[in-house]
Amino acid sequence: MRFKQLKKWPLIVLFSLLVAISAATTTVLANNQTLTVRASVLNVRLGPGLGYSVMGQVQNGTQLTVIDKENSWYQVRLAGNRIGWVASWLVDQNEATTTTARVATVAGQVNVRQYATTTSKVLGTLEPGDSAKVIYQEGDWTEIAYQNTAAWVYTKLINITNQTVTLEAPKQSAAVATKAAVTVVKATTTTAANVREAAGINAPIVTRLTKGQSVTILKQSGEWYYVQTATGKKGYIASWILSMPGSATAKAATSLSEATIVLDPGHGGTDSGAQSTSGGSEKTYTLALANKVGAALKAQGVNVIYTRSDDSFVDLAPRPAVAEKVHADAFISFHFDSTPNANTASGFTTYYYSVKKDKTLATYLNKSFTGLGLTNRGVEFGDFEVIRENTQPAVLLEMGYINDDSDYAKIKSAAYQQQIASDIVSGLTSYFKAGNHQ
Ligand SMILES: [Zn+2]
Repeated sequence: MRFKQLKKWPLIVLFSLLVAISAATTTVLANNQTLTVRASVLNVRLGPGLGYSVMGQVQNGTQLTVIDKENSWYQVRLAGNRIGWVASWLVDQNEATTTTARVATVAGQVNVRQYATTTSKVLGTLEPGDSAKVIYQEGDWTEIAYQNTAAWVYTKLINITNQTVTLEAPKQSAAVATKAAVTVVKATTTTAANVREAAGINAPIVTRLTKGQSVTILKQSGEWYYVQTATGKKGYIASWILSMPGSATAKAATSLSEATIVLDPGHGGTDSGAQSTSGGSEKTYTLALANKVGAALKAQGVNVIYTRSDDSFVDLAPRPAVAEKVHADAFISFHFDSTPNANTASGFTTYYYSVKKDKTLATYLNKSFTGLGLTNRGVEFGDFEVIRENTQPAVLLEMGYINDDSDYAKIKSAAYQQQIASDIVSGLTSYFKAGNHQ
């Protein structure tokens, strides 16, 4: 027995040496910037938009490393080398430096693997002439950004060029969300789950759980929970496969908070729009209303973008173009109706253009307008340029007749505008909750 133990020493020395060499050759090629999560719970998605499925969640205060940026979303690295996307306005930027990553090219066909080992799954191949964004290198392997995830290629098979990709600094980093304390102690697995020795997907497995098993959360470690199973085993489990019904944690990250919404106050500048009998201009009240709605949405964490924010003239065509450019989850245009003869019509109407793209949004919003004290004229088809020429889900709201004296009394009141704002928040909340987004 003693002899055997002694024989192990050279192996341990050799192993330590290998680890040391590997560490020494680790090269970080991306000058990464880090972000801090500001939302109480932030969804991490498979792609840069609300339409991509949630792959995990991170808690308030978590530091994330940025790899890329697209459409106001950040591609970030998570524990276990997983890659996902988070909404830029729900995180705080720690460093204002620009980030660069090196570009690699391939001369022949190269397998792209899930992990840095030849036995791991092949996710795809790079063909001659293809290029890849290098995240970092470790030993013989190079990690690249590949189809919204991180993947590995054998370093000898690629050529790292001098070309770098500059990742632009974020346009805004508005922060919302109140810090919610995690008070949950019980959770249920949402799928078959591995309980691991450490907080990472490569850590050894302690035990496996089937779907629907209950665990007790002992503490939190980043995106992982240290839990105790029903049979008394302890280990780490990924937070994103646990469901905590009724808890603040489960509810904190609403889909609405991740949405980008374009608000379009009708008319502006030399285009006054319709007039009230007393000479009030439609453009004044569309802007006042949009500002109220924008403030209410911002308070929910929404990324709000206006087509105009002051009394300036904006042509029709650029308005839907804004929505397309930012890949808006919804576009809402604000207007007030008028009739040829004053005081002959009253009420509000919700217009859509595309049945497929817009009508659901129009229906959800219209249903939310319950306490306005004006006749609901319903959801109607409307051939308006700002919604017709829109690639994103778009609606046009006519929120009362400006040349009807009793409607106008409402239109100009802050209380009426505020009621519309909170109704839109609840309508959009239900709309996104039901999975209605691109
Ligand atoms: Zn108008």
